[in-house]
Amino acid sequence: MNRIRVNLDKRLSASYDIHIGRDILDRVAPLLAKSGWAGRWYILTDSNVRGLHGDRLLGALHGNGLEVEMIEFAAGESSKTISTCIGLAEQLLERGADRSSGLIALGGGVVGDVAGFLASIYMRGIPCVQVPTTLLAQVDSSIGGKTGIDLPEGKNMLGTFLQPRAVFIDVAFLDTLPPREFRNGLAEIVKYGIIEDTELLGVIEEGAEALQGRNPALLERLVSASCRIKKGVVEIDETEKGLRRILNFGHTVGHAIEAESEYAIPHGEAVAMGMAAAALISERQRYLSAEDRERIVSVIERAGLPVRIPQTLDTGRILSNLSRDKKKKDGKIHFVLLRKPGMPFVNGGVPLEIVQETIEALKA
Ligand code: ADP
Ligand code: ZN
Repeated sequence: MNRIRVNLDKRLSASYDIHIGRDILDRVAPLLAKSGWAGRWYILTDSNVRGLHGDRLLGALHGNGLEVEMIEFAAGESSKTISTCIGLAEQLLERGADRSSGLIALGGGVVGDVAGFLASIYMRGIPCVQVPTTLLAQVDSSIGGKTGIDLPEGKNMLGTFLQPRAVFIDVAFLDTLPPREFRNGLAEIVKYGIIEDTELLGVIEEGAEALQGRNPALLERLVSASCRIKKGVVEIDETEKGLRRILNFGHTVGHAIEAESEYAIPHGEAVAMGMAAAALISERQRYLSAEDRERIVSVIERAGLPVRIPQTLDTGRILSNLSRDKKKKDGKIHFVLLRKPGMPFVNGGVPLEIVQETIEALKA
């Protein structure tokens, strides 16, 4: 089991460890038992993950004499609402959860967001431990302390920053993950390779087949490398004021595509298209060489992800989604662009025509 320490500013939150390995559940229980973080634990999970992995975690924790119960809610993004949170809070109250209790988020990004959000407000805040079970959650959403729920008006419109007490990443969870969910996480790994670590990019290039086959050693290596990159960014910019924005590479156009498809296109696929767009904009603005852009596009493709935008999506509506993006500042759209792989920067002045031409070109 690997351990990665996330060092945070003591005035904001406590530092914590990310534990990564295969079949580590038996080792999670003793760590929690001696942590003293909570007297009683409540596993929050969704209706899919409970059947696949919930009882195993529950059993391991019981085996170590921990007081623990499991509460589930319906799987899917549509559960990321305030009413789910209220329902869960009522169940926690009924089962006697108090200020000395803690939550364990067992599941993908939805469970992590809902449990993190609830932990940050239940009785003014209780500890939360993240046990991510999707590749996306393992390399991205479980680390960094962002929590959120959706409103009818938009995703993650309510949220908090709550750093977890610990993150336990068992890559064995990924064995049961549907291919489409797996690819969602691959997109973020490719993103880390592009923005931060060209060596990682090389590993993905060379190991593409092994990766599709979910080679255990390779997966563990890539998940660890990704967590290390994310934690480095989070340490410098815990509350997303500056540097953390580079993690949005591919996400500006990606989010606009997701929204225009009414979320029929999953996050990872939309981000893959968004990364192809950001690379092309970088080339057209003469920051990035054609050769580097081609390399980026080929890595995305080798990871089994799309680089073309479906013809059926409306360019005009993608553009208007872009200008509505909540990360917009001073009326200008900020793009994360590239000078080279491993050298991203935030550019505030990309003319809308260039973005439009880029989207059209990627539809061809
Ligand atoms: P995210 O992709 O943001 O992590 P979700 O939390 O919605 O999103 O998870 C995606 C889907 O995968 C959900 O239906 C969830 O129940 C399911 N899921 C999560 N973990 C696993 C797993 N290890 N094996 C199979 N299905 C899983
Ligand atoms: Zn993402």
